[in-house]
Amino acid sequence: MKRFFMWVLVAVLLVSILPAGAESQKFSVSWLGIFDTQITLMGFMESQEEFNKVADETAKRLTEYNRIFDAYNSYPDLHNLWYVNRFAHQAPVEIPGELYSLIAWCKEKWESGMRETNIAMGAVLSIWHDYRTAGLEHPETAALPPMAELEEAALHTDFDQVILDDEKQTVYFADPRIKLDIGAVAKGFSADLIGEYLRQAMPSFLLSLGGNILSGEGPRDGRKHWGVSVESPFDPSIFNSANYLDVLYVDGLSVVTSGDYWRYYIVDGEKYHHIIDPDTLMPARHMRANTIVCESSTLADFMTTSLFVLSVEDGMKLVESMEGVEALWVLDSGEILMSSGMANYARSLGASAYQ
Ligand code: ADP
Ligand code: MG
Repeated sequence: MKRFFMWVLVAVLLVSILPAGAESQKFSVSWLGIFDTQITLMGFMESQEEFNKVADETAKRLTEYNRIFDAYNSYPDLHNLWYVNRFAHQAPVEIPGELYSLIAWCKEKWESGMRETNIAMGAVLSIWHDYRTAGLEHPETAALPPMAELEEAALHTDFDQVILDDEKQTVYFADPRIKLDIGAVAKGFSADLIGEYLRQAMPSFLLSLGGNILSGEGPRDGRKHWGVSVESPFDPSIFNSANYLDVLYVDGLSVVTSGDYWRYYIVDGEKYHHIIDPDTLMPARHMRANTIVCESSTLADFMTTSLFVLSVEDGMKLVESMEGVEALWVLDSGEILMSSGMANYARSLGASAYQ
């Protein structure tokens, strides 16, 4: 018994003497298709086999979240977002926990007065989506949605008409014309869900869901933090990662960017992007991009959309009032603004991977 105890002690000592993850190596894998985007998982693991197990489980779970959050396709026996938008006006629909939590999270923000990001704005957003899709397919006839059509749809965007029942996990639309569009938060929320799994399965990881970044513990190669580059809205390219404005050093945090440079279409020589101001019903024009750093990827994703709609001044006030939330704005002029705590992360302000 005593001997056994000694061995346990020796083992514990050995473990604590060894530098954390001394035998870990870095592995990475990318997938295309899930969430209609490129997903990359990087992590430090003992072996390729161990990494592959985590990667397979990650892909499996993300594929399931993708089905649950899918607004365009139905699946047998799954009450996903498509199903909710199709049937929730008839009677309360029981939905998967992941979808319920996401809607409830957004509703809480709405009730707290943060209304720039409104996932109940689907009626308006789907009009923009249809005009953008048509305009991309036939650039020569690209047109803006008529304001009268947008205004009429905007009458059906009141989140209070989305009725949730915590006990039954149901959602019901009291306004039959309401539609949910969770594009502003679905990737961040999925990153948080998968983050819960990754933190125990592979603590040192970096996950990118189409540029929506979640980091675990720092890399096990001597660096303390992961470096996440902030892409240039003026010359974006997924094939040219050298094309960045700054690098943010993070661990245990999420980094999310919203920009006007990936999803847009052109009407009469003008760009019209995909983030819509609920007041004007038009694409917001205060900036080219913004980036949020905070622990919750859901909040980061939500906030990038909100900041896009707010003026830089109002956004700065909001961010400075929030504990643990930092932001970076890229203006039309190319000027970059940052909230005060960004100095902890930004290379341009002296942060590094080692400190
Ligand atoms: P990305 O999809 O490029 O990561 P965002 O996280 O900012 O960017 O999400 C943009 C998506 O959110 C749009 O495609 C649209 O579906 C939706 N959206 C646009 N404007 C709003 C808004 N004001 N409130 C809620 N959702 C919005
Ligand atoms: Mg967002």
